[in-house]
Amino acid sequence: MRSKKPYTNATFTKRVDHEAGRHRPARAASEPAVCEDCGAVYESRRWTAPNSASGDQQQKHWRPQHLTVCPACVQQQSGEPRGFVYLDGAFFVTHHEEIEQLLKNESERAAEDNPLARIMEWKRGDTHKLTVTTTTEHLAQRLGHALEKAFGGTVHYDFSHENKLARVSWQRE
Ligand SMILES: [Zn+2]
Repeated sequence: MRSKKPYTNATFTKRVDHEAGRHRPARAASEPAVCEDCGAVYESRRWTAPNSASGDQQQKHWRPQHLTVCPACVQQQSGEPRGFVYLDGAFFVTHHEEIEQLLKNESERAAEDNPLARIMEWKRGDTHKLTVTTTTEHLAQRLGHALEKAFGGTVHYDFSHENKLARVSWQRE
């Protein structure tokens, strides 16, 4: 049976509006907005982690959500990190599992404070034993502190304020 619903211009107008909304910068997103990639929620002018509220709470406070892409996902797509952590030394070779686990745990804890703080990439070998890139300068620093606290060694912080980049080098022989 064919629908008798009239196919009006309104259909097209609506679609145009939706597209315009999607391409607005994330900071100007209508609230509440949800990142269509990672599920982070933008509300009350801040981003919260996808699983920070229980199912019940989400039901209670449910309102239509606008789709957007959060700044961290935009960064992951563009591949431009704000932080680098370089790991070197013989200790890494024999303890890489513990070290990688520590970095994962620390980045998960950081995400509770700021869901936009994330590890972007893990690169083994090449110039360094391991290079970890992060979406924020702060997360790179935090990982450096965590490495030094857990495993000792030496850590060096190098900041470029102008470019908002942090390079953290950790080493233990
Ligand atoms: Zn996202």
